[in-house]
Amino acid sequence: MAEQPSTSTVSTAFRSALDVIREVEPRVADAIAAEVADQREMLKLIASENYASPATLLAMGNWLSDKYAEGTVGRRFYAGCRNVDTVESLAAEHARSVFGAAHAYVQPHSGIDANLVAFWAVLSQRVESPALEKAGVRQVNELSEQDWAQLRADFGNQRMLGMSLDAGGHLTHGFRPNISGKMFDQRSYGTDPVTGLLDYDAVRAAAREFRPLIIVAGYSAYPRLVNFRLMREIADEVGATLMVDMAHFAGLVAGKVLTGDFDPVPHAQIVTTTTHKSLRGPRGGMVLCDDSLAEHVDRGCPMVLGGPLPHVMAAKAVALAEAARPEFGTYAQAVVDNAKALAEGLLTRGAKLVTGGTDNHLVLIDVSSYGLTGRQAEAALLDAGIVTNRNAVPQDPNGAWYTTGIRIGTPALTTRGLGPAEMDEIAGLIDTVLDGTSPAAAAKGGTSKANYVLDASIADQVSRRAADLLAGFPLYPTLDLQ
Ligand SMILES: *Cc1c(COP(=O)(O)O)cnc(C)c1O
Repeated sequence: MAEQPSTSTVSTAFRSALDVIREVEPRVADAIAAEVADQREMLKLIASENYASPATLLAMGNWLSDKYAEGTVGRRFYAGCRNVDTVESLAAEHARSVFGAAHAYVQPHSGIDANLVAFWAVLSQRVESPALEKAGVRQVNELSEQDWAQLRADFGNQRMLGMSLDAGGHLTHGFRPNISGKMFDQRSYGTDPVTGLLDYDAVRAAAREFRPLIIVAGYSAYPRLVNFRLMREIADEVGATLMVDMAHFAGLVAGKVLTGDFDPVPHAQIVTTTTHKSLRGPRGGMVLCDDSLAEHVDRGCPMVLGGPLPHVMAAKAVALAEAARPEFGTYAQAVVDNAKALAEGLLTRGAKLVTGGTDNHLVLIDVSSYGLTGRQAEAALLDAGIVTNRNAVPQDPNGAWYTTGIRIGTPALTTRGLGPAEMDEIAGLIDTVLDGTSPAAAAKGGTSKANYVLDASIADQVSRRAADLLAGFPLYPTLDLQ
């Protein structure tokens, strides 16, 4: 990693922290140390993971955690929030500057929470505010029983249009298992069955027909760019609010790899994100919005969020300060270059990729050409020291549990400094494992979508090669916990 403080400072800080923990519950100290060891040894290709910097990690473990700070900067429901105000202001200031946003709300505890804050901000602006105005009152407590009942019914009667799950959308974009699907009447748009690409004409047609209150763009498993200028045009045409969930690609936006039509911030009224994926910050969420939504977004806590996590907001401020540096732009470009090299390496070896390649940080392999389900491929790769996750492909014949895809991404390995040559070699390792894996029968006979056989010598040979490869790119090269 480029942004390393001196050797002894980092090692001393983490070693002392572990010593203090070990005195109380040694098993927790051991688990933390074991986690560092695992993360150092495994080839981490999970597209939603990364490695936060030592400064970001250390900003989380301290006394800021002990404060209650409901409310917003300067308007708290608790006394003594001066230092929390400082870190929350810093995080928001860095977020506004890195993303060029009018307003930033840095309290959400996760991406799901950020989306919930955003949905309720839009409902507050577009459903609640007009109802209050119509009744001639300032807040909900002043509504009559009848008006309140009507407003509650109206909240439950709104429509949302989002990307379908098997095209790469996220469960929080209006799907029934998530609260968003219980709140909204949802319809989804998919991708073109032939090219696998987002079809804007189809999105426009669906929007005209369905007339949603909110159009959600953004994804977890779509390997191409989204034209947010076009999405906003569509939203404007039907009077919808455009919300973009950039949880996966926020780092590419911060690093100015996604610009113009592909940068969601100037186009969407509201943008949500996680802070721990390509953005490389602490585990958390964030909402950016225009001025018209700011007051609604700021009601996130206590409306849908528990008390803010001041220690995590401190770490967000640190990580966003890192994202503001020129090196982060270099990193973000390398993430995309690496994903392209990985895709190229797989295609050369005959693998089938959804959309035939990638323009961002992730690649979706259709493993049906290896005769495997996603579940079998994921387990076989793990046996060989390669950590990935299975993922549905469009119109997936194996459903959302077994799936037909393997999603891989480059944010984590790029943080460690691996480059295109290593990506090509990793593509070879993946191909070797998948080629050497065959489906196995279920215990009671018949086919199984989970069982598989992978020759132990292949698993061994690949995991040894993966470990050698990683040894050249140590995670936290200056960290020594012994
Ligand atoms: C990861 C992700 C989320 C959820 O983030 P959590 O921090 O796990 O709650 C939401 N939306 C998208 C598009 C994601 O990829």
